Amino acid sequence: MKKTDLFLQELNNKPLANSLNGSARKRIWLNVTEKCNQACIYCSAFCDKNINMKDMSFLVAKKSIENALKEFGTNQLHICFFGGEPLCNFDLIKKVVKYYRYINKNITYSVSTNALIINSTHLKYFKKNNFFVQVSIDGSPDIQKKQRPYISGYEKEFSNYEKNVKFLIKKMGAENVVARATITSNNIYLSGLFDYLLQLGFKKIHFDPNISRGHDELDLGRYLGVLKKEINSLVNKYYINYKNNKIISLKPISTYHDILTGKAQVNKCEAGINRFCYDVNGKKFPCHMVVGLPGAEINEAVKIRNKSCDHCLYHNVCGGKCLGEICYNKKDIKVHCAINQMYINALINNLF
Ligand code: SF4
Ligand code: SF4
Repeated sequence: MKKTDLFLQELNNKPLANSLNGSARKRIWLNVTEKCNQACIYCSAFCDKNINMKDMSFLVAKKSIENALKEFGTNQLHICFFGGEPLCNFDLIKKVVKYYRYINKNITYSVSTNALIINSTHLKYFKKNNFFVQVSIDGSPDIQKKQRPYISGYEKEFSNYEKNVKFLIKKMGAENVVARATITSNNIYLSGLFDYLLQLGFKKIHFDPNISRGHDELDLGRYLGVLKKEINSLVNKYYINYKNNKIISLKPISTYHDILTGKAQVNKCEAGINRFCYDVNGKKFPCHMVVGLPGAEINEAVKIRNKSCDHCLYHNVCGGKCLGEICYNKKDIKVHCAINQMYINALINNLF
């Protein structure tokens, strides 16, 4: 039997608590706008040409937050301002924070931005209000142009992009910023991508495989051999940089590392349990990953997600299926599973 299988079998024999308990942090995503200055090739949520780009109103934001507080039965909440590009409706973000500043001090905030129009006014505001900033960035300007082109088509606008990102990290502090990269066949060389993001100054990085529909050319399933090599080398690189204090977290590697070494509990999909997402009209969805999808489709996916993955050797580390993955990949999450297993195998081989 392989070392990884033996290790996982032993782990599965131990009683493990999962993290889905009543005390887990409750979070909502508020889609404050559908407007965006980029037209990412994998974005199927809002950038369809036939969608009227709308902003969320303050009334809708307030109703959504009140609904979440009531449903969760708590006054502790984390709000992630999402979009589109949320800075296209910065006024609403300020209104929400100002309104809740005095009536609920237990709300914390983050914003998920592409950082293209971020400026010192935004950053002063985010710093002052203890925001956490997630930057959507898939790689160098060449990759960005290919994968996240400007909606205007005016690609020269990328010339200041790296400067913007460095400025953002300097002003916010690296511990308050995460780079989130969507991995497709265009930016599959993960170890080079990691070097690039480190060199920009990021110390928190998150790699997520693309799950959007109707883009066969981006499909990672055809590149699993390349990915395996890249993941092995990424794990080695992560440990070297971690020891030298150059990286704080690299997900999913750091998450799986903490679970494998007993520092953290396994994460399960929290969609509709500890998190909701509200679209610009205030319609509630279980997660930002499934916004806009028909209710029947989501409900069917919830049933699939809730079926246990106990048959899988990796279930006590991986945590099981992601609702978004099930919806977007028409229930076939083989690629998602293969990638998760590669990360876990590489970590076990490196650690033990
Ligand atoms: S649907 Fe996916 S992204 Fe959303 S909570 Fe579940 S695992 Fe996380
Ligand atoms: S690898 Fe796939 S089958 Fe295994 S636990 Fe994760 S989601 Fe479930």
